[in-house]
Amino acid sequence: MNFGHVAIIGLGLLGGSIGLAVKEHLPDVKTTGYDADPDVRDRARKLGLCGAIADDPATAVRDADLVILCVPVGAMDSAARAVSPGLLSDAVISDVGSSKLSVSKSLAKVLPNHAIIPAHPVAGTEQSGPDSGFSSLFHHRWCIITPPEGAPDAKVAALKAFWQGLGSTVEIMDADHHDLVLAVTSHIPHLIAYTIVGTASDLEEVTRGEVIKYSAGGFRDFTRIAASDPVMWRDVFLNNREAVLDMLDRFLGDLALMREAIRAGDGEMMFDQFSKTRAIRRRIVEQGQDDARPDFGRHDHE
Ligand code: NAP
Repeated sequence: MNFGHVAIIGLGLLGGSIGLAVKEHLPDVKTTGYDADPDVRDRARKLGLCGAIADDPATAVRDADLVILCVPVGAMDSAARAVSPGLLSDAVISDVGSSKLSVSKSLAKVLPNHAIIPAHPVAGTEQSGPDSGFSSLFHHRWCIITPPEGAPDAKVAALKAFWQGLGSTVEIMDADHHDLVLAVTSHIPHLIAYTIVGTASDLEEVTRGEVIKYSAGGFRDFTRIAASDPVMWRDVFLNNREAVLDMLDRFLGDLALMREAIRAGDGEMMFDQFSKTRAIRRRIVEQGQDDARPDFGRHDHE
């Protein structure tokens, strides 16, 4: 099976990018969209993010065989409830949320009679809103699909083909494993960035002006991550609490070891650790997940 009509609920970075990517890569697929914010709906119409934008959620999903919820993780169940009166009985309900187990459970509660197949495109930027979407967001990026037990194979295969059509490489994973992996690779790094930028700007000995003026590469890179949408990230930490706390305990243990190495002047320990992490960066570049050029290829060195 292939999807012929996709409804996109939430027309920010992810929803808008899906709309634009479908238009470019799967031009035969019809798209309809809805966002709770009327200004976002107007903007989405002007930007042509979907073939049609409806003014109510049930109309947006009418006749759609795939519905993708692109709202913050904490708003997934209310978005699902709002679309339910318009859903086809055999429609696939999916999402793009950054945490999967709690979303999967809450969608199953709200829509017990539908095929729910959650997904997470591991692609994004620090920007949000309808103007931030772009059609190539998913190119060469992973999309992790987390089908619950019993999800129909044909529908999982169709969702996989849909994401591949937008340029993603698809991996199938259990929702709880997804949450653990993403806690390490995405959620804890965001927590660290939010914290370090907050700490630096609160330091009494250093003025906020100096923090901005002398922001060298390291701090500046943290500020990019720390500029990410506060609602989205609040919801991620509220919804992936167990995995984040587990990984945070490990991180704090490692940080304590590093603190001890600095206190004790243990240069060997630091050198070994920093060499290990440098090798990880090399592997990320080798696997095409980032730019090999210095400073991520920014042009300010020219
Ligand atoms: P976004 O740009 O802020 O867009 C979300 C949109 O959904 C907003 O316009 C919001 O309107 C709207 N909305 C909120 N509740 C709604 C509801 N109940 N019904 C309809 N629309 C609703 O956020 P995003 O970055 O696209 O993130 C969307 C989802 O993608 C999140 O679950 C996030 O975890 C996931 N994700 C994000 C990234 C990333 O890098 N940003 C990457 C992968 C996955 P209001 O602003 O008025 O609330």
